[in-house]
Parts: sequence; structure tokens; C-alpha cells
Amino acid sequence: MVETARPKERPARSIRFRLLAIALLPTLVILPLLLGIAIARWNAKFDALLITKVNGDLTIAHQYLSRILENTGEHIQALAVSAAFRDTVGSGETPALPAFIDKSRQTLGLDFLMLVDHQGQPIDAAGQTQDAWPVVKLALDGTSSTAIDILSDTQLAALSPALAERARIELVETPNAVPTDRKSEARGMVVHSASPVTLANGVKAALVGGILLNQNLVFIDTINDLVYREASLPEGSKGTATLFLDDVRVSTNVRLFEDRRALGTRVSAAVRAAVLDEGRTWLDSAFVVNDWYISAYEPIVDSFGKRVGMLYVGFLETPFRQAKYTTLLTIVLAFLAVTAASVPIFLRWARAIFKPLERMSDTITRVEAGNMSARTELTAASDEIGRVALHLDGLLDQLQQRDRELRQWNDELNDRVAERTSELELANRQIEATTKQLIMSEKLAAIGEITAGVAHEINNPIAVIQGNLDVVRSVLGAKADEAKVEFRLIDEQIHRISQIVTKLLQFAKPEEYAGYVERHAPAEVISDCLPLVQHLLHKAEIKLVRNDHATRLVLMNRTELQQVAVNLIVNAIHAMPKGGTLTITTRDQDVETRPGVLIDITDTGVGMTPELVGKIFDPFFTTKRQEGTGLGLSISQRLVSRQNGRISVQSTPGEGTTFSIWLPEAN
Ligand code: ADP
Ligand code: MG
Repeated sequence: MVETARPKERPARSIRFRLLAIALLPTLVILPLLLGIAIARWNAKFDALLITKVNGDLTIAHQYLSRILENTGEHIQALAVSAAFRDTVGSGETPALPAFIDKSRQTLGLDFLMLVDHQGQPIDAAGQTQDAWPVVKLALDGTSSTAIDILSDTQLAALSPALAERARIELVETPNAVPTDRKSEARGMVVHSASPVTLANGVKAALVGGILLNQNLVFIDTINDLVYREASLPEGSKGTATLFLDDVRVSTNVRLFEDRRALGTRVSAAVRAAVLDEGRTWLDSAFVVNDWYISAYEPIVDSFGKRVGMLYVGFLETPFRQAKYTTLLTIVLAFLAVTAASVPIFLRWARAIFKPLERMSDTITRVEAGNMSARTELTAASDEIGRVALHLDGLLDQLQQRDRELRQWNDELNDRVAERTSELELANRQIEATTKQLIMSEKLAAIGEITAGVAHEINNPIAVIQGNLDVVRSVLGAKADEAKVEFRLIDEQIHRISQIVTKLLQFAKPEEYAGYVERHAPAEVISDCLPLVQHLLHKAEIKLVRNDHATRLVLMNRTELQQVAVNLIVNAIHAMPKGGTLTITTRDQDVETRPGVLIDITDTGVGMTPELVGKIFDPFFTTKRQEGTGLGLSISQRLVSRQNGRISVQSTPGEGTTFSIWLPEAN
């Protein structure tokens, strides 16, 4: 499996969040941005609307003031041309005149009313003639006119001490106002109106009257009621109107406290500079006495064309601001609520979409970790990604199948290799055995050659010795008896030599010694052997046990079979130097379906190690030094194999040995 380097974070998840970000961008970023812009615009429009409204309010107040001025002028003019006035003043200065004027003043609701003659008399308190006022001058010239004028306290006092008293306003310390040393405002702002009259003697005069605006609360409340009618403002807001003399509030409904009007307080320096100094109309939010108001100020110009005061209207800003903030808060909260409600829905939706992708990533990770049976386990494809996931499962199935096949092939290959290996091993063993046999045959052939040669070379001298010995014996005749023992010993040794040589030759060229083969009962042949070894059995105190069960006959040369049996019995006796039991058993036995007879020769002797067993059939291998030739077993094996039989051994060191001769049945 190919390991691929992968980033730690799961790609599917990161894609999910990236796409989610794209989906939520409009909601979380663009929408709030648009909302912000809209709110800012709305806010500006709202503020502009308030300014427009206050401007309209100011216009109404202005018109009302103009109306007052006009009314006053019209009243005085009407009085001037009235028959009653003409009758009363017809004859010039009459004693009834002051009473008439005072009565008319009260009727018209004026604060002062007087008749000014063509010279401008009466002279006022400052020693100035009345025609110094532009309105009076115009009236003396024959034109009625009305204006706002500012009268000093002495001028007011000259008109009426009560008037001067009413005009007087103590200044109240006001933050933000232009600093001043003045303690009070004693001047009066008046509506100043004059109409021409012609006296009975044809002399021109002027009827001059007016209204003091200082502390004229009826006037200011009327303006306020007119501008801010009931329910024309939102709940909590409050309309206000004020008349300023210079920068001092001389008539107002703005409250300092609950029951005290803010008379004597002054306008802020900023408004004063803009309106009084520069003559502009102020339309803005302004701090009035103790709160913020949407305010409108316009300058009031007197008959000399000088800016002497201001007209103000305004309403409390807080309720509007609160309404604004409530709306804003509602919008923001609504937005947040909608976002909070929609984002989880988006998330769930996105999760549903990306589930197959995440499952795929997860599955691939598990497959990479070696779990070939990992699958996305999606049952139905709802979209393209789902189909890809199902496709992946299909591919993984194929992959797993291939993997399984590969493993199977691998196992088969391994089996085959093992099979071939064992075959090779077997062949190797066979080769080894064959090689061994070859070596053995070579060895045997060589030994045979040598032995045959040597045996012949020895046979001839022995024949000569034997011949000459017989000659010596016949020559000596009876005298030979004196050395009878010696002669017998020589004869025995010669016989032994010839025996050994015969055995050697038999080993070297067995074919030449092979006699005729006959059928024999093995038990009989063995019985014939026993006298040959009887003395050995006695010497070593060995008990002999016979178990003859064989019924079949074997085909073999009798002498050879005897030789084999004697060999094995002698070996057994040699293995039991301290005595023991020799058991000879014969029985019928089939080997590989071939019928035959088995002859077991068992001893209770020293036994052999497996290592030793491996060598005993080698020619000349012996452990018996002087007595042994090491040829017994190898000759026996040759003889038996020539009859297609076999010899086998079972031995335990210290317990004993069993040699088994198997020969095929003679038929
Ligand atoms: P030899 O008898 O001349 O030594 P053999 O070929 O007959 O030669 O025997 C070879 C060797 O096998 C013996 O030297 C002996 O060590 C061993 N041998 C044979 N038969 C037995 C037996 N029955 N018990 C123990 N060892 C035996
Ligand atoms: Mg032997």
C-alpha cells in the first residue's frame, strides 16, 4: 500500500468550513454592512427631518410674532382714526384725554399708549424726543408702522414704573454662555407701534403704543401652544419657545425647575455668535438650560435694523433619540436573532451535504491504516458527493477483492515453494544416499580387488607350508609324535589362516562362492547352527529361548543361511559377556504385500547408540579389536540381499539389541 503524506487537518472538514464561510458571508458580513449603511442614511435623514420640523416650527412662531406686531399696529391705527378719539382730542389737549387714552390702552390690551405731538413731545427720561424712534418719526410723517424696540429701564419707568418693574429680570448664572458682569436685565423688549393722527387744529401728531414682551408669558405660551399643539410631538418630548433680549431669556416656557421658568438664563456662546453676531438662523441640536433640544433660533431686528434679540423654538431631543435607539436596537436584535436561528440551520444543512465527503476521508484514512473492510456505509446517494462516496465503496470492494486474490495467490505460491523445497530436499537426500552407496560400492570394489589379490598370494605359500609340513611328518614318521602338540598347533594355525583367507575371498568375490539355493524351514537351519555355538553359550552362562512360529519356507543356500545366523548369534553372545538371555524367534510376515519369514535374534546385552548402528554394516568396522574382523555383518547383509531379503537392527544402549532377518517365502 502506498503511504501518502497528508495534512493533519481533514480536508473535508476544512472544505466544509470554507464553503460555509462563503455561504454565511452575505448574512454575517454583507448584510450587516448594508444594514449599517442603511441605518446611517436613515439616521441622517431622521436628523434632517427633525431639523426640517423645527424649521417649520420657527416659521410658525415667526408668523405669530409678525401677527402680534400687525395686530398691535392695526389696533392703534383703528383707534387713531376712530370718531371717539377724534371727538376727545378734537380740541387739542383736553382734560378728558389721559383718561380716554388709559381706557383705550386697557381695551386694546396694550402696556403703554401715548400721544406724541409733532415736535416729538413728551421728551423721554433720557431727554430725547419721541421722534428719535423710527416708528414715531414715520407716523409723524403720516405712515403707520410697527417694530420691535428695546426700551431702557428709565424709558420704561417714564412710561410706567410698573412696566419698568415687570421688565426687570435678574440674570442667572448659565454655563456655556458668554461671561458677563451684569447682574440683571432692566431693558424691555417691546412691540412698538405708531400711527399718524391729525388734531382738530390740523396739527400732525402720532398715537404711539406697545406691548412689553419681557415676562409676557401669555405671549410665549400662545406661541408654544400654536407651534406645539397637543400630541404634535412624541410622548415625553416637550415643545419650548423663548424670546431673547440680547442673549437673555426674557420670556420663555423653558423650565429651570418644575415650577420655575428659566427667565434670566442666557443662551450658549455658540448660538449667540451665530445668530446675534452673524445674523444666521440656527437649526441644530443645542443644549438649552439643562437638556438637549432640537432648536431653531432666528435674530430679531429692531426698528433701527439692529439685531437686538432672538426668537427660539425647540423640542426635547431625548425621546426622539430614544425612539431612534429603540428602533436601531430592535433592528440589530432582530438581525442577531435571525442570524442565531439561521446559522445552526446552515450548519446542519452543510453537515448533511458534507457527510459523504467526511465519511470518504475517514474511510480512506482507515483503509490506509490497513483496514481493508472500511466503507463509507452510505445507503443512498442524495447528491453528486453522495454518488462519489458510493462509487468509492464500489472501488474499495474491488480493491479488497484484488487484495484477497493477491493474498490467495501469495499463499498458493508459498505452498508451491514449500512443496518444491521438500521435493528438492527429498531429491537431495536421495542423491546423498545414492552418493553414499556409490562411494560404498567403489570402496567395496576396491577392497574386493585388493583382498582377492592378497588372498591368492597368501593361499599359495600356505599350500606350500601345508605340503611341506606333511612331507616333514612323513619323513619323521614315528618320531613326529614327539612334536605332536606343536604339529597340531601349526595345523590349527594354518587352518585358521586358510579360513580367514576363504572369508576374505568370500567377501571380495561372493558370486564365486554362491552355492545352490534350496527351500528350508528357517527354524531347522537355526537348530543345526546351535551346536557350533554351544560352548560359547555355556561359557557366558546365557539362557536360550526359542519361539518357532514360522510355517513358510525360505529359498537360500543352506550354508550361507547358517553363516548369517551364526554371525548374528556370535555377535549377540559377544554383547552379553556377563550372561543374559538370547531369544530366537521365527514367524511368517508379509513385507509390502510380499509374503516372507522373519527371524529375530534378540539379546539382553550392551546395546548400541544410534551413531554406532549407522556404522556396523560397514566392512571392517569392529569394536572388538583383536577378536573381530568387522566383516560379519557386511557379509551377512550381502548374502541376505542377494536373496532379496533384508537385515534390520533395533537397539537400546544398556538394554539389548534385536537383529531381524527377513527373507521372502519360497514358492
Ligand atoms: P565383528 O563381530 O568381527 O566385530 P561384525 O560385523 O560382526 O564384526 O560386527 C561389527 C560390530 O557390530 C561389532 O564389533 C559390534 O561392535 C557390533 N555388534 C554386532 N552385533 C552386536 C550385538 N548383538 N550387540 C552389540 N553390538 C553388536
Ligand atoms: Mg561378528
